[in-house]
Formats: sequence, C-alpha cells, structure tokens
Amino acid sequence: MTIIMNKINLKSLSREGIYRFIESLNLPRYRGDQLIRWLYKKGAASIDEITEFSKELRNSLNDVAYISNLALVKQVKSSDNTKKFLFALQDFQKIESVLIPDEDRLTLCISSQVGCAMGCLFCRTARCGLVRNLKSYEIVDQIFSVNRIIKPAKVTNIVLMGMGEPLANFDEVVDALWRITEFFCISKRKITLSTAGIVPKILLLHRKVPEINLAVSLNATTDEVRNEIMPVNKRYPIRSIIDACKKYPLQPGRKITFEYVMIDRKNDFPEDAYRLVKLLSGIRCKVNLIPLNPYPGSELKKTTDEKVLAFQKILLQHKLRAFIRESRGQDISAACGQLRAENKI
Ligand code: SF4
Repeated sequence: MTIIMNKINLKSLSREGIYRFIESLNLPRYRGDQLIRWLYKKGAASIDEITEFSKELRNSLNDVAYISNLALVKQVKSSDNTKKFLFALQDFQKIESVLIPDEDRLTLCISSQVGCAMGCLFCRTARCGLVRNLKSYEIVDQIFSVNRIIKPAKVTNIVLMGMGEPLANFDEVVDALWRITEFFCISKRKITLSTAGIVPKILLLHRKVPEINLAVSLNATTDEVRNEIMPVNKRYPIRSIIDACKKYPLQPGRKITFEYVMIDRKNDFPEDAYRLVKLLSGIRCKVNLIPLNPYPGSELKKTTDEKVLAFQKILLQHKLRAFIRESRGQDISAACGQLRAENKI
C-alpha cells in the first residue's frame, strides 16, 4: 500500500485491500465493488470523477485517499502510426510507453523500471543505468493513461519490453500482471514478458503467473559474443537460459519467442544461424530477427538486408519459424532498444 501525505493511493490496493479499506470506513462491501469498477473499468482519474458516490462520500474519501496518475509530458507519432508517450511519475522521474497499432489490436509496450541495470550494448536505455524500480501501480498506470488518451479505443495487448528488465523487478511486475488480467480483463494470452535472461526468475514466473507469453532476448549464439553485448550473460550463460526455457511449461499452441537483434559482424554470420538451430532444437519456439536500430553515438551497425535474409533462410531450412521484424516507430526513437526517457522525444 502506498501512502503519501497520510493518504492511501487507491490504485496501490489489491482487490482484498480495497474491501478492507472500505470496511475500515464502515462502508458496505458493495462500495468496494463500485470503487473497483470506477477505478479499473471506467478509469476514474480522481475520486471526484466517481459520480456514483454522493458528494459527501467523495469528500470523506478525499480526506483519506487519492488516485495516482501519470502526467503526460509529451507524445509523438511515427510515420507508421506508432505512438510514443513520455510520462512523469510522482517523483518526476520519467518513463516511456509505446503504442503499436495493428489491424485488429492495439499493443502497448510498457516500462517496468526507470532506466535499466542490464547494460546491453545495443540498447539506449542501458545508458541511463538503473534509477529505480517501478511500483506495480506505476506499471499499470501506463495502461490507464494511454486508454484515457486513446478513448474510446482501448489497449488490447501488452508487452513488457519497454524500459527496464521486468524480471529484475519481479514482485512488482508479478503484482502488475495480476492487476492487468484481473482488473483490465486482458487475457494472459495477450501479455508477453520479455527478459534478457534472469534464469531463476524465468521458472519462478511460471509459478507466480502461469500462461504468460515468454520472450527471451537472446541475440548471440556463443557466450563470448553474448558476454560482450549482454553482460547479464556472465551470470546466466546461454546454456542456462536454454535449459530454463526447456522447463518453461507451454500451453498447447503456444511458443517461446527468441528475439535476435542482428548486429553487423557481431552475431550475423551463417555459423551463428547454424548454432541457433542447434541451441533451440527441442524448444517450441519462434525467432524474431530484428535488424539493429542504432541509437546516436552507438558504434554498432545494422546488418545488411541481404545478410538478414540469408540468416533467416538457414533457420527456415531447418524448420525453425523465423520472422524478420522491422521495429516500429524508428523515426521517433520508439523502436526496440531506442527508449530513453528524456524530454526531447
Ligand atoms: S535491452 Fe532491455 S534488458 Fe537490455 S539494457 Fe535495454 S532495457 Fe535493459
């Protein structure tokens, strides 16, 4: 529970927490149901917006509670209709969320930390270092805020691929996932968590929130290269990640996604493709090949289109499902690896 100036943030309460709060005010339990509906279905941004409550009741709630909100600092739209939002938190730290529209869905890529400690060489967020973990309600508030902006449309799918390593903020992310499924009624099939490979937490994730789609940012086929571009590999080498993925229980028809950012002369050789086939054999999976989006100042270069196609061909020849994913929102720095909360977006 988050308390600021002696007031409780209603969004920091679980379902049971809301009922306990309502009981503590000697109100009947059905007020808790109303509160949940206004918070999560109607997206009330303040207690005063809960018009189902009398003015008197709103005033007494205002005395002891409040509803947190992210402040929209800026939004920009890409030529491919991707939208990037810069939000300020209560402590004025900033995070980014990216809305990616497709034919039949609106996917929101949300952040789980301010900055990130993982230090991936190809990622702009890594340059901020870790500032702090997000609270679960701050993770969820990104969906609230975007839903309010795009009204009457609504976010339909969630990917935890924004700023931060979700499994390094495990408890808050697990809590946020429960809120997203329970309160927003977004099914677990429509939620994907992407990790750089925090092995012990991959297996724990399934126990805490079963059926969430798992994506692993792999990006190399030897520990030598992965150590260089993803320092987390020194703690959790490739073999340990693959073993964890083999143990990750999958629902029928579901697959683990392996993301492979293609970096010129680093991880894009035909030998890498053959090694990838071997590494992933026995795992129900697909591979997303993502040509690098170099950020300003990065020394890494994008793999040529020909090399990406040749790499994909080897994977396909070996019956590995492999897709080339041009990142969306590149012209507004909203693509994979380009997020970095700042005012100049
Ligand atoms: S790619 Fe992901 S895990 Fe790696 S530094 Fe960037 S945000 Fe962190």
